[in-house]
Amino acid sequence: MVHGMPNSTLEASPNAALNKTILPKYMDLPIPEGKIQAMYVWVDGTGENVRAKTRTLDFIPKDPSDLPIWNYDGSSCYQAEGGNSDMYLYPVAIFNDPFRRGNNKLVLCDTYKANGKPADPVNHNGHYYTDTNKRHSCLKAMEAAKDHEPWFGIEQEYTLLDMDLRPLGWPKNGFPGPQGPYYCGVGANKVYARDIVEAHYRACLYAGVNIAGSNAEVMPAQWEYQVGPCEGISIGDQLWMSRFILHRVAEEFGVVATLDPKPMPGDWNGAGAHTNFSTKAMRDENGIIEIEKAIDKLSRNHLRHIQAYDPKGGKDNERRLTGRHETSSIHDFSAGVANRGASIRIPRGCAEQKKGYLEDRRPSSNCDPYSVCEALVRTCILNE
Ligand code: ADP
Ligand code: MN
Ligand code: MN
Ligand code: MN
Repeated sequence: MVHGMPNSTLEASPNAALNKTILPKYMDLPIPEGKIQAMYVWVDGTGENVRAKTRTLDFIPKDPSDLPIWNYDGSSCYQAEGGNSDMYLYPVAIFNDPFRRGNNKLVLCDTYKANGKPADPVNHNGHYYTDTNKRHSCLKAMEAAKDHEPWFGIEQEYTLLDMDLRPLGWPKNGFPGPQGPYYCGVGANKVYARDIVEAHYRACLYAGVNIAGSNAEVMPAQWEYQVGPCEGISIGDQLWMSRFILHRVAEEFGVVATLDPKPMPGDWNGAGAHTNFSTKAMRDENGIIEIEKAIDKLSRNHLRHIQAYDPKGGKDNERRLTGRHETSSIHDFSAGVANRGASIRIPRGCAEQKKGYLEDRRPSSNCDPYSVCEALVRTCILNE
């Protein structure tokens, strides 16, 4: 626990303390005919956090190409030096805004420098930030692989934290009982803050995110939702927007949602982003042969994938992929039917039907889905 924080930390968030009955009065105000608010959302220099800012538009955008390119201060997002800080937001996907409703929109963007090149690596106060427009090269891979109709479904695990950055609902001076009763749990002593999970689920549906389900996880205060199956680049667009909505909903409750892959060291499960992947050939009759071919290619590219599966090139996953707590070791590649201790799992149902998809269990919860899916496509489809 961080020293100096009050014990009853829910009150420590000013957001939780605000009177929530006042805002709706303003949100209900009629606004001028034809005007909408568009909130532009992008990934910052950490490769992990999202930023957002709003502008008024006098039309309802139907396609990302309807929307203006916009600029922002890259030096305040760990993405540019102060002397040359103007960067550009290129709209790539539009969602309905579940917070403002009506015709208002959330707009996912990728980030470019003034010379039209995607965001670069940056040294900021001695800290190195990698290039964070991962979408640009992912899109090229998806276009090259289009005929194979790659589908992705990502299981996004995350952990809710108090303002002191300790898991929500955990005793301040101790630990909850050992893992066992919490996964898919029901009851006040099993799960914490289902309100946030429910709000997030409905907000994603309203927004147009292809959310597939949700469940409580093995560690108390840890949850999961799934996005997909989505074809091609849209998996990254949808997962990033679902993460924005998660942080935004949790903010209203005065709770922190973290994607850290191992928020509590010790005998507590980490958080991953299992990535389920298939091609048309894998989904067709006897697709199991294609699934096995893909697994063979993956076995020969383990390091490349580990480097792509968290924002620090493998460093974050080192804490999680220990070979314990339903993970494989970061150092070895393995695959198996129904094996949750392997790098790749073939779901039992797929093995029985001899077709379907594979599950890559290695991606970290804070991975960039563009990087993960690009690596899968380049290894398994493009044979690069
Ligand atoms: P687990 O048993 O590992 O917890 P989940 O039910 O949480 O699995 O997630 C399975 C994911 O697999 C879902 O997001 C779903 O959209 C995705 N999925 C299902 N079929 C396919 C497919 N053919 N290709 C890719 N992803 C798929
Ligand atoms: Mn799951
Ligand atoms: Mn899970
Ligand atoms: Mn899984």
